Amino acid sequence: MKLHIENLTVVYHQSTPFEHLALNNITTTFEEGVYYGIVGHTGSGKSTLIQTLNGLLLPSSGTVYAGDLALRKKTKYKYVHEVKKHVGMVFQFPEHQLFEETVLKDVMFGPKNMGLGEKEAKSKAEYYLELMNVDNSLFKESPFELSGGQMRKVAIAGILAMEPEVLILDEPTAGLDPKSHSETMRLFQQIHKDMGITIILVTHDMNDVFEYTDQVKLLSGGNLVREGRTEDLLMDSGILENNALEPPDIVRLMKDLKKKGRSFESVPRNIEDF
Ligand code: ADP
Repeated sequence: MKLHIENLTVVYHQSTPFEHLALNNITTTFEEGVYYGIVGHTGSGKSTLIQTLNGLLLPSSGTVYAGDLALRKKTKYKYVHEVKKHVGMVFQFPEHQLFEETVLKDVMFGPKNMGLGEKEAKSKAEYYLELMNVDNSLFKESPFELSGGQMRKVAIAGILAMEPEVLILDEPTAGLDPKSHSETMRLFQQIHKDMGITIILVTHDMNDVFEYTDQVKLLSGGNLVREGRTEDLLMDSGILENNALEPPDIVRLMKDLKKKGRSFESVPRNIEDF
């Protein structure tokens, strides 16, 4: 499913003394089957943007198109609900949303809620738990008895079991140890490749952006200031001019690029001077 947003503006607490412009007239597209990174400083509008993509937040003005469905300021709940079926969201610390008695029941909850019968929901849950490398000896355990890394995998299996066409990941590895971090990121990569699912990753981890994403959208102060192929974006001095990434991130990325044998002729001198 293609997502397209047109002249999207989001204002929090509109017409009150606390009014705050979080997204300013953004127009952009998320093509089917592409792995996107959304980057930018804290407060740049990343969370606000992804929440509008699955209807958690409606535009103050402008339109979000999810396939043929259009979300606008006054869109009715029925349509918003339809979008949520196609656009899945893994929130930060998704394990906080586990609630069922057993791991299996937790993952079955979404598919059942979408209208599947017990048997079908169970086989979907088992399939996605296995895909997330959750051992089947844990299926009957309480999710709250698991380790942090295992709990997160169960929570992610629960989103995947609803088989969204677009998967939004909001800092999905926050708080994980390095081993679980790379395991989780590799699983997402595999899901993206095997199932052709669009991924939209919000992260501060520029190594992950470089390693996994095809395209990047860079936000700064509620504006979309850059978008394009990940590699091109990193080679673009505009990132520094906009001060939208920390210089140490750039340095790390340059080192990565060097390791991968990339040429540096097009990189402005000042990046290397940091
Ligand atoms: P990011 O995810 O990049 O950190 P956010 O989308 O969370 O950015 O926030 C964008 C801006 O909107 C920030 O200035 C933030 O303080 C403000 N903001 C976010 N959520 C709310 C809210 N519920 N009420 C008021 N202001 C908010």
